[in-house]
Amino acid sequence: MKTGTKGVWAGEEGTFFENSTQVPVVHSVSFGYETLKEWMDVTLEKKEGFIYSRNANPTVKVFEDKMAVLEGTETAVSFSTGMGAISNTLFALLRPGDRVVSQKDTYGGTSKLFLKYLPEFGVEVELCDTGDHEIMEREIEKGCRLVYLETPTNPTLKIVDLKRLAKAAKKTGAIVVTDNTFSTPINTNPSKLGVDLIIHSATKFLSGHADALGGIVCGTRENIRTINSYREIHGAALHPMAAYFIIRGIKTLHLRIKQQNSSALEIAGFLKALPEIEEVHYPGLPEHKNHDIAKKQMKGFGGILSFSVNGGTERMTEVLEKLKIVKLAANLGAVETIAGIPATTSHVECSIEEREQLGIPEGLIRYSVGIEETEDLIEDLKQAIKK
Ligand SMILES: *Cc1c(COP(=O)(O)O)cnc(C)c1O
Repeated sequence: MKTGTKGVWAGEEGTFFENSTQVPVVHSVSFGYETLKEWMDVTLEKKEGFIYSRNANPTVKVFEDKMAVLEGTETAVSFSTGMGAISNTLFALLRPGDRVVSQKDTYGGTSKLFLKYLPEFGVEVELCDTGDHEIMEREIEKGCRLVYLETPTNPTLKIVDLKRLAKAAKKTGAIVVTDNTFSTPINTNPSKLGVDLIIHSATKFLSGHADALGGIVCGTRENIRTINSYREIHGAALHPMAAYFIIRGIKTLHLRIKQQNSSALEIAGFLKALPEIEEVHYPGLPEHKNHDIAKKQMKGFGGILSFSVNGGTERMTEVLEKLKIVKLAANLGAVETIAGIPATTSHVECSIEEREQLGIPEGLIRYSVGIEETEDLIEDLKQAIKK
């Protein structure tokens, strides 16, 4: 089966309450038993079942099963947010004295973990220039417990060669983690490239409607068990209602991504040709620095692009505020087009100095293409950019 079909059906093969055709939202905190023996058997995992929704919940489980199928991994564990997924994964797998190799461009919250919270617990973090694969290979070779990647990056849309770095990591026995939020399983399949753990902010494309927060980590039973045990105690469980919204979103994921891929490519080409535009970042453009890796690694180039206009932050503000078919908001990956700047979106957690340290330009507009008609979006950009 192709990914689009899996998105609709995976994880929903069983029979639901009263033969309902849709996944029931099970709001129950706990699950009761007639006998102590049966309760004990479920506790000891001798029998399938649920006990307490912080640990496992039937609606949430459908989302996890669906994502494991979509990402082609043995299993998955969900979280209340994408940052819940990322921080629980890192804190569950790392110990004081461990070394992490990652890239400078990661999501702002992740960068904050690398710059502040992990070092405070004695974890050494080496952040390499994003896209400099030789440097990353050299740093990985020195030895590390975990390699953390993200591609395309936020907001400069750099592409990291997952297969190449996963290969380097395998030689030293490091666990390879990637944040696949921007790509989605429709555009990139990291498990086929040697990545061990695949993380998503389900808040973005997976849900797709900007009405639910969630996160997921997909991987082997062994790794997911470690992360799941940590989550049970740290308590960042996904709410069943949010799980339902995300399940519903995933059913149309392949259609939305198809539209967003093609719209974004067209818009990037359109912007590129305008004299008012200083720079356009989109991995689908042939002149993009990592276009070759993107072509090899991705089925589509994604729904997000970023650009800057000539004339500095004043002009940037003017253009942003003149856009009509857009929400100026700190989100991405929704059916509506959304725009923002790093200082108020992806890197709001970082100070100006930290953004500079990470190479995040202040004057960049991040444009997350929705599912509106491409022509309308181009007309809107045209009128906003025109002086
Ligand atoms: C939004 C985002 C996150 C964080 O997800 P939340 O659900 O907001 O916690 C992590 N990584 C990437 C790439 C994101 O865009």
